[in-house]
Amino acid sequence: MARKDERRKAGVGGRKSSAKPGAERRAGVAKRAAPKTGAKSAAKLAASPPPPPTPKVKFRGRLLEHEPLARYTTYRLGGPARYFLMPADVEDVAKGIEFANERRLPWLAIGLGSNLLVKESGFPGLVIRVGKGLDRFEMKGAIAIVGAGMPTPILARRTAEGGFAGVERFIGIPGTVGGGVYMNAGAHGAEFAEVVTEVSVMDGKGKIRQLARKQISFKYRASNLGDVVVLETKLLLLEEAPAKLKELQGKLLRWRKAGTPFDQPCAGSVFKNPGGAKTAGSLIDECGLKGYAIGGAQVSTMHANYFVNTGTATPSDVLRLIEHVRKTVQKKTGVEFELEVKVIG
Ligand SMILES: Cc1cc2nc3c(=O)[nH]c(=O)nc-3n(C[C@H](O)[C@H](O)[C@H](O)COP(=O)(O)OP(=O)(O)OC[C@H]3O[C@@H](n4cnc5c(N)ncnc54)[C@H](O)[C@@H]3O)c2cc1C
Repeated sequence: MARKDERRKAGVGGRKSSAKPGAERRAGVAKRAAPKTGAKSAAKLAASPPPPPTPKVKFRGRLLEHEPLARYTTYRLGGPARYFLMPADVEDVAKGIEFANERRLPWLAIGLGSNLLVKESGFPGLVIRVGKGLDRFEMKGAIAIVGAGMPTPILARRTAEGGFAGVERFIGIPGTVGGGVYMNAGAHGAEFAEVVTEVSVMDGKGKIRQLARKQISFKYRASNLGDVVVLETKLLLLEEAPAKLKELQGKLLRWRKAGTPFDQPCAGSVFKNPGGAKTAGSLIDECGLKGYAIGGAQVSTMHANYFVNTGTATPSDVLRLIEHVRKTVQKKTGVEFELEVKVIG
């Protein structure tokens, strides 16, 4: 999902920088080593127009150019992002949005890339990867205040160890809390929608907004949060014995281990469960598609709704496999699948 903003100026000008002076000097646009060139290509380079000026915006985190997104997706697939920002704090996120707006570029927030399929073309604008620096965790009574960059399994473990239930079943969801809230991720009958009381987001003008639960509409693996960066959330939990939660998490992890192709890159469930008695996985399995492959992409032999990268897959292979499975299931069972994985590019 690309966020576009045609305005020339973003609403973040005049913010005071909290960046430490030393950090400012260290950060900014990371430069790649110049490729070695022969005499011919050197002459060609001399004749070609000068490259566009390096963006002058300073970030406390890192801004990379032409960064391959394959490095940041669990599929290990995807072309480059024109710009790729790893913000160190909320102010960096605001500067990133301003940076994109000023260049009339689309922007996109991502977490751990565990629900993404990025095409070969990559992303033409700014990808904001929410992670470290935005991963605060604090308990105030039974309320967990959690930064969007915190990995969901860590949240599940820390709250369980602290004697709080509500997110313990998310122990095996390999994304960030921001991605989990945005997607309304869930597992084993629980989902983020049940525990979220408030979400702090940054909008396309760089403005922070606090959204109360009643302002947000969650659906199965979806929310109406729209074109925002999720920064933080408050979750209402319930007291529970840590030993009981630990035992449950152990069971759930063993169950996952038995049914997940952890040794092969994938992005979890490709399709949403269609809502009837049968899961997407069982419908795909019934159509005889387990193990079916196109190029290097394969329907997992362990879990039919997980499509894996066997090592040589391209994003196009995965997309072709998705289309083949979707059409076959539709033809054989009449069920129309909806994608759970987000396709970028
Ligand atoms: C092995 C495996 C098992 C999985 N099991 C489950 C499961 O049991 N249940 C489940 O629900 N999912 C599961 N998933 C899918 C995935 O882990 C979840 O959807 C997860 O919540 C995505 O989080 P992420 O940080 O990786 O988001 P990403 O994949 O990076 O992004 C997903 C979407 O969220 C948006 N987004 C991410 N972060 C932000 C942010 N801070 N602000 C605004 N938008 C944001 C992105 O733009 C994108 O649209 C599984 C995936 C794998 C690989």
